[in-house]
Amino acid sequence: MRRVHIGPSVLELVEGDITQQDTEAIVNAANSSLLGGGGVDGAIHRAGGPEILEECRKIGGCPTGEARITTGGRLRAGWVIHTVGPVYRDGTRGEPELLAAAYRNSLRLASEKGIKRVAFPSISTGAYGYPMAEAARVALSTTIEYLTAHPEITLIRFVLFGESAFRTYGTALEELLPTLGLS
Ligand code: ADP
Repeated sequence: MRRVHIGPSVLELVEGDITQQDTEAIVNAANSSLLGGGGVDGAIHRAGGPEILEECRKIGGCPTGEARITTGGRLRAGWVIHTVGPVYRDGTRGEPELLAAAYRNSLRLASEKGIKRVAFPSISTGAYGYPMAEAARVALSTTIEYLTAHPEITLIRFVLFGESAFRTYGTALEELLPTLGLS
């Protein structure tokens, strides 16, 4: 686990399973139909039960880069924030901007709902093919920037699936912090 203080708030990197988190909200790397898929999405619906999918059906979809919120069903987290990251093609099709928007819009929803503690998976780095090191830079710089401006969010936890993802995010964080005057 790696923990960094950003003003009064905390950014954490942990290796683990997003479905097991006790934060008020967890974020789902959904697809734009919101009707379920593999990876994190499949794991969240399996662990949280049918109530989540029912609400997703009513919402009726979510464009890439945006976010929507549902109950957490049977999860420990009370809420699931569903966001849609970009499919990675070659990095020149707006992928970094869309990935940043997915993180930012998820956090905006949390702020609006008074949710203070949020856990994220590594969005777009599974089926959507975003290279992990590049995705980590976007994820960390975007969330640190948000935390700096929004102390109402007290915890952002990245839950990295496997040692390799955890290490890649750790390296990206160590490279980023000095450029922000943080440690
Ligand atoms: P996307 O379609 O946005 O790429 P995926 O769910 O396919 O989403 O993968 C996103 C990332 O989530 C991948 O790096 C994958 O290893 C990771 N992942 C898969 N299952 C879990 C889980 N239960 N908890 C946290 N991360 C997970």
